[in-house]
Order: sequence, then structure tokens, then C-alpha cells
Amino acid sequence: MYPAPFRYHRPDSLDAAIKLLERLGDMAKPIAGGQTLVPMLKLRMGDVNDLIDIGRLPGLAEIQINDNEARIGALATHATIAASPLAERIPSVRDCAGGIADLQVRSRGTIGGSISTGDPSTDWAPFLHTLRAVVEIQGPAGQREVAIDDFVSDAYTTVLKTGELVTAIRFPLPPPRSGGAYIGYKRAAPAYPTCAVGIQLTLDEAGVCSAARCVLSAVASTPVTSDAADAALVGTGVTEEDLKAAGELIIAAADPPEDVRGSADYKRSVLRGLFLQAGTKARQRATGETIEGSHSYV
Ligand SMILES: Cc1cc2nc3c(=O)[nH]c(=O)nc-3n(C[C@H](O)[C@H](O)[C@H](O)COP(=O)(O)OP(=O)(O)OC[C@H]3O[C@@H](n4cnc5c(N)ncnc54)[C@H](O)[C@@H]3O)c2cc1C
Repeated sequence: MYPAPFRYHRPDSLDAAIKLLERLGDMAKPIAGGQTLVPMLKLRMGDVNDLIDIGRLPGLAEIQINDNEARIGALATHATIAASPLAERIPSVRDCAGGIADLQVRSRGTIGGSISTGDPSTDWAPFLHTLRAVVEIQGPAGQREVAIDDFVSDAYTTVLKTGELVTAIRFPLPPPRSGGAYIGYKRAAPAYPTCAVGIQLTLDEAGVCSAARCVLSAVASTPVTSDAADAALVGTGVTEEDLKAAGELIIAAADPPEDVRGSADYKRSVLRGLFLQAGTKARQRATGETIEGSHSYV
């Protein structure tokens, strides 16, 4: 189906884009890679009178590594991030970026667009929980920052206000002896994950876990975290038994929807396997092993 008619605008600066969005109100939408928005327009989901093309705004696609933090511009595509020095340095970044959809989608879709959809099945928002990321936002009232934990407030809903744009995502670089992994369970490459697990660990010199952050995706309206699961891993050697125990704690906090991808029980059972795999891979990476990551396909 063709989209309903809309007006197309291509402002040449961030300020101009924000002013346009503010003036045109909620019937105007920014478009970045168009990989989610265009299919939705074609399905005639949502009323959009004006599209504000932000895809070519200067300075918003850079990926920077500073002394102790990384910053990814909102317009960086999944493919660019997967091939970046940042992904080389933090392999779980490549797990996430390189496993999204297929090459076509990865070449156009952006990290800013991904988190802004608030889609419970997307990969970036949950993954970024493992790195305790912060979202940089600019809008009519100026700049503000929101922790990724607070950014997606419900399914398809974020804290963005009218006229606001995500400009970048920032997170601290993991300390030495840290490792993470992100694994989505997918029916096929161009399909959203049935569910996904992300884990980031830090070990002390004796190999004991000193910090952990775990997340589940696509099994509730927003990414699922559990302080109890994180705490259960701290002080352990992250053995199979430790991971099974922590996995049960976080899976208990999930509420998997029954849908075409499977029943709630099926998804819980998949999560148990994924949690064990992701935790094992994160521990191996934290000890310095080079472990290639990939999603798990049915
Ligand atoms: C076949 C297919 C399979 C896919 N599989 C996956 C998958 O497995 N995992 C996954 O995570 N994703 C998947 N996606 C989604 C894909 O990752 C999209 O790239 C992403 O969700 C949206 O990025 P975009 O740049 O294309 O955003 P757009 O489609 O341009 O915009 C999406 C939404 O975000 C808003 N927006 C865009 N940029 C900004 C910004 N900077 N600030 C504020 N609002 C903004 C838009 O107004 C719109 O509401 C898939 C998409 C397709 C078509």
C-alpha cells in the first residue's frame, strides 16, 4: 500500500529541524533511516502530515571513544557501528549492531531511530542497559540527558517531548577484566528477535564477579532488568549454577507475550538457554578470550 500524502522537509541544521518539529506539532515526525517509519506509513499506522528528514544533518553520525567513555551519534547506522573501532573494543556492541535484521536494514537504520521507536522487540535499547548508557536529547527547551533505563516508558512510548530529537548515546567504557554479550533468538535474519538477553560483567583479579548488569528484551513492554539477578552474580565465579540462579531471578520479572513467535512458557524456556550462553560468553570475554558473537537462529 502507498502511504497517505505527506509534506517532506529537509532542514539543513539541527536547530532548524527542532524549530520545524515544534511548529508543526505532533502530526510531524522526524525520519532518519526510515526502516521503521516507512513501513508504518505504508501500513497507514499513525497520522503523519509532515516528514522532517534528519538523515543528513551534519555531525550526528560520529562514533567517538574518549579516555573513559564512548559516544555514538544518533544517526550512526547499525552497519557503521558494527564495523567501528568501538565494536572492536567492546565486542558486545558488535553482537548487537551486527545481528540487527539484514544488511539492507543495517545500512540505513540508525541507533537513534531504533531507541526512539520504543518497540519492545528492538535490540539497541535493551542492549544499552548493559552499559548503563545515557541518551542525549535536544529540543525547543535546550539539551537534556536521560538514563536509558528511563528512556522507554512503555511499549512504543518514550520520554521524548514534541520537537525533541535524540542526538547521541553515551556510556562509560567498561573497566579492565570486563566482558559482555548480547544474544537475540531469531527465526530469520530479517525478523525481530523472539527474545534476547544481554549481560555485562566485571571480574576482580581472582576471577570473582565484582559487577553485573543483565537485561532481557522482547518479553515485556519495556526492557527487563533485575537488581536481584545482578546482585546474585556479584561475588560468584559466574559458573553454570550461578548463571542458572541469576537467570531464574530475572526471568521471573519478565512477562512474555503469547504471539506468533511462541507461548510465554516457550519464551521463558528459550531465555534460560540464552541467559546461560550470554553469561558464559561474557565471562570468557572478561577473562580476555576472543569470542565471536552472533545471534541464535531457529
Ligand atoms: C525487515 C526489518 C527487520 C528488522 N529487524 C530488526 C531487529 O532484528 N532488531 C532491531 O533492533 N531492529 C530491527 N528493525 C528495525 C531497524 O533496526 C530500524 O532501523 C530502527 O528501528 C529504526 O531506525 P531508523 O533510523 O530507520 O528510524 P526511522 O524509521 O527513520 O524512525 C523510527 C522512529 O523514530 C523516530 N526517530 C528517528 N530518529 C530519531 C531521532 N534521532 N530522535 C527522535 N526520534 C527519532 C521517527 O520519527 C520514527 O518514529 C528491522 C526493520 C526491518 C524493516
